[in-house]
Amino acid sequence: MKQYIYADNAATTQLDPQAFEAMIPWLRDEYGNASQPYSFSRKPKKAIAEARAVIAECINAEPEEIYFTSGGTESDNWVVKGSAFSDPDHRAMITSQIEHHAVLRSCAAIERIGYPVAYLPTDEDGRILPETLDRNISDRTRLVSVMTANNEIGTIQDIAGLADIAHAHGAMFHTDAVQAVGHIPIDVKALDVDMLSASAHKFNGPRGIGFLYIRKGIEVHPFMDGGGQENKNRAGTENTAAIVGMSIALMNNIKNMIYTSDSILSLEDLLITKLLEAGLVFRRNGANTLPGLISLSFQNSSGEMLLHRMDLKGICVSTGSACNGSSDEISHVLQAIHLPDEYAKGTVRISLGKQNTESDIIKIAESLKQILTPK
Ligand code: PLP
Repeated sequence: MKQYIYADNAATTQLDPQAFEAMIPWLRDEYGNASQPYSFSRKPKKAIAEARAVIAECINAEPEEIYFTSGGTESDNWVVKGSAFSDPDHRAMITSQIEHHAVLRSCAAIERIGYPVAYLPTDEDGRILPETLDRNISDRTRLVSVMTANNEIGTIQDIAGLADIAHAHGAMFHTDAVQAVGHIPIDVKALDVDMLSASAHKFNGPRGIGFLYIRKGIEVHPFMDGGGQENKNRAGTENTAAIVGMSIALMNNIKNMIYTSDSILSLEDLLITKLLEAGLVFRRNGANTLPGLISLSFQNSSGEMLLHRMDLKGICVSTGSACNGSSDEISHVLQAIHLPDEYAKGTVRISLGKQNTESDIIKIAESLKQILTPK
């Protein structure tokens, strides 16, 4: 197999080997449907209960507040549409201009059926300021949804401060923490959030599985209708292997979080130093960013060209979020932070993971220098 330097960990991550091993029995031998009452289903049922308890502990929630979903997209859809469907009064929702499309397009869907949605602007670093929320919220607001950390530029928001404002107006608060869970400490009680979305493949778990935390007492309509799984809140036969794999991956990431983020931060410093030494003209987007998420905008260049030229050198980076990786448009996030066009067009996202090494960083920096230095 061709060896790549993989620097697109915000798009997806490598599966934790222990998570992989832990998944095998549930795929091969213990394939019983966890919701059946016979003895063959006892083991998968117990494994799911244990995984739920582990995940709950990782974010300081109660096990019965964790609902398994197919990933971040489903969790976000559930929150937005489920909140609307359970509100006959059509109260308003507030989100931000820089959310992932899983939130933005769900908001567009509820707008089409008559629910008003406001989209908060950010400052030039992608921060949603508490005073901006304060100016836009009213006692008619039902839900505020602001992401914990942005997937394109990495900016981490003041979630506890924003949740506080939402609650003061009687609104529920949701955060899309898909990029944050497993990478920075997340404590749902300290953040005081009512709902939180997460996705396993962003923290070295398997793809196609995630969870939604819903605080006890919060009312949202179930999104997936069907059987009575997940305490009648999310229908569909449980994916035992993926649930178990997700719990192991999250536990391992949290156990090693300080070590991993320290080493990733030193790789980040090395990259910036090497690029400056190479004399390249660029801006780094975002502030208070996730460890390893580096959005760089090179003046008068093209992110699309950079992605493809890096690919020819065996290096995986992205132009922005995974879902608009093939589009040449300036992303909604870069537009929201008002990045000048001459920089925005030349944006690449380099997102480091625990497998990256100093030698990867040196190759990334040398490659960027070769591509961007006029001959
Ligand atoms: N929310 C954010 C912030 C993301 O970065 C992503 C994925 O890129 C998603 C939601 C969607 O998650 P999933 O790929 O698990 O559907």
